[in-house]
Amino acid sequence: MDILIVKAQKIEEIGRAGRDGRLSYCHLFYDDEMYFKLRSLMYSEGVDEYAVNKFLSEVFPADKSSCGKICSLIKESASRRFDMKEEVILTVLTRLELGDVQYLHLLPQTNVTCVLNFYKTPTVSLAQKVSAIAVILKRSENRHGQHTFDLPTVANDMGVTPVELTNQLYDLKLKGEITYEMKDMAYCYRILEVPTDLLSLSADITKWLSEVESCKVRKMDAMFNAAYFAVNLCDKMNGCSSADHTSCLQRIILDYFAGIDNIDFCKKIDQSSPFLRADIKVFLQSNSHARFTPRAVARVMHGIASPAYPYTIWGKTHFWGRYTKIDFKVVMEAAKEELKKFVGKDIL
Ligand SMILES: [Zn+2]
Repeated sequence: MDILIVKAQKIEEIGRAGRDGRLSYCHLFYDDEMYFKLRSLMYSEGVDEYAVNKFLSEVFPADKSSCGKICSLIKESASRRFDMKEEVILTVLTRLELGDVQYLHLLPQTNVTCVLNFYKTPTVSLAQKVSAIAVILKRSENRHGQHTFDLPTVANDMGVTPVELTNQLYDLKLKGEITYEMKDMAYCYRILEVPTDLLSLSADITKWLSEVESCKVRKMDAMFNAAYFAVNLCDKMNGCSSADHTSCLQRIILDYFAGIDNIDFCKKIDQSSPFLRADIKVFLQSNSHARFTPRAVARVMHGIASPAYPYTIWGKTHFWGRYTKIDFKVVMEAAKEELKKFVGKDIL
């Protein structure tokens, strides 16, 4: 059995054994490296406040008349632009829908970029007969007779939903008037209320995301501590013997669920390294073309890929994953200090 991330999950898996009433044994394979790797991964979804702010400014267009409008965010490009995993984007959008204030209403994900060609009727006369076509002509980019447009934008202009517009296009296609292709899968939503204070909303969301993150890390540490105790520290007195640590694990697990925080038995995660700052400095100097955030630097040092810093490119740097044993937050702080010096001014 792997060292599992969540104790509840572990108990669930242990529970599978012995259901037939026969005696069964659970073997826990324990490995430091696995722990470091998993602990690093807990940090793969975090987002900085300024990125959340940038994200929210794009979710809510600047003009105040955007209430009721349908907007979209193309998944792949947004994920890269904000360096946020697609799941995280969806999490934040869901929070905007289900939080204290309902800022938006999420619609089904759909392709939003339409590339359209005209066939039978001359374009201008078709536009006179079909209002959708008139709007499309106004809102599209024409390249060699191929019209490219954003479906929600045209739908907003017409006062219909993207689905209604798609149905109209489909009818025209059946009549042989047009052919079209849809691309760019996007999150779609209708704006219900534009937040008055984007900065404080960004702060709230960032705080919430970071609580989720530290909660995951704490669970990971608790699980690791229990395993570490059983393997290395148990005095084999209270019911434990050689490889059987049912008693002490049970005790630690029950404590955990009772809210008793067993102090860390192990201080495996280092809180500093003499070479960290110097390595970050060299890394920044040799990648001066890129604009980093402290989190992006820390991810590279921890060997965590992200949408803007994929493994295929950044995995090649020899700093990749070099500091998995140093606490992520410590690496991030060091990166922040080095970035300040590097940029020469406090950009953060
Ligand atoms: Zn034990």
